[in-house]
Amino acid sequence: MPRKNPNKGKDPWLPDPEFEALFSGRSGNDVNGLGETDERKPTHIFWLQKSHTGPFGDVQDAVVERHNSVPELDEVYRTAQRGPRLREPAAEKTQKSAAEFTDEIRNFALGHEADQVGFANIDPLWVYEGFEQELPRVVMMVVAMDHERSQHLPPTHEHPDWAHEVAVQYNRGARAAAYTAEHIRSLGYQAKPHAGPWVGTLNLIPAAIAAGLGELGKHGSMINREFGSSFRLAAVETDLPLESNSPDLFGADDFCTRCQICTNACPPQAISIEKQTVRGVDKWYVDFNKCIGYFNETYGCAICLAVCPWSTPGRAEGMAEKYTRVFLKDR
Ligand code: SF4
Ligand code: SF4
Repeated sequence: MPRKNPNKGKDPWLPDPEFEALFSGRSGNDVNGLGETDERKPTHIFWLQKSHTGPFGDVQDAVVERHNSVPELDEVYRTAQRGPRLREPAAEKTQKSAAEFTDEIRNFALGHEADQVGFANIDPLWVYEGFEQELPRVVMMVVAMDHERSQHLPPTHEHPDWAHEVAVQYNRGARAAAYTAEHIRSLGYQAKPHAGPWVGTLNLIPAAIAAGLGELGKHGSMINREFGSSFRLAAVETDLPLESNSPDLFGADDFCTRCQICTNACPPQAISIEKQTVRGVDKWYVDFNKCIGYFNETYGCAICLAVCPWSTPGRAEGMAEKYTRVFLKDR
């Protein structure tokens, strides 16, 4: 039975017409494959890298320019320490079992700023259109965010705390990924790090779900059993032999079908109450065209992440225990 839309009849926040005009009638939802019933690789909208010149390059430039107009945000990326410059892999490969390498890499990453680590075999459907899969496996890392810094949401020019925290944690994820990649290369294997805010060649969310780091939430971001949605991802693609994890199911998806907190809280009403078909998969999906204007105006918004009950510090683990029992006991 379809659920009642809690925003029905309410006026959504509307974007600045000048910003909207940058889209020239193009739809980010079309690029994302909303409504497509066949599986396919994802397509970049933007954030591929700073010099991106794709069809949404002018939208990306506007977002970056606005973000960098806040001195603290400009500085935190410009002066960031994001890890070592990578050397070529060692000439000789260290020989160990996949189980031994898995333990070694997990401990190494946890000792180099990652808060959680998981492993997955890469599905070619996670690689963005225009790129080929280069390596067979991925080390996925979670870096937690300081939820206390979400007091002033959405971020403003005067109170950009959350946007600053995003940058700080992306930089931490970049260091965790770079040092881990450097270590893997010292063992004689290939390693390619990924860290935000720029998207690389691999879609990190399905990789992180496969690596057991959380479930997809209605707000289109992940929910982790310890940090809720207050975290960022980083990754290292590699050919090092590793043991894969399984997805971690703890009832978050079922909880989302009964919860509408983020849908209610989203000013442009971008969060659908029902799953939608995106590139052949039924899943939670946020309307890109509606979100991006508010996201731009507010230096990254994040209201949906902060209001999610799983994100309240100290709450997710108890919820995971309870909703595993409630929703998953018979599966
Ligand atoms: S980031 Fe803001 S605008 Fe975008 S979906 Fe979340 S609450 Fe809505
Ligand atoms: S606020 Fe509710 S519906 Fe939205 S992601 Fe969190 S649990 Fe799911």
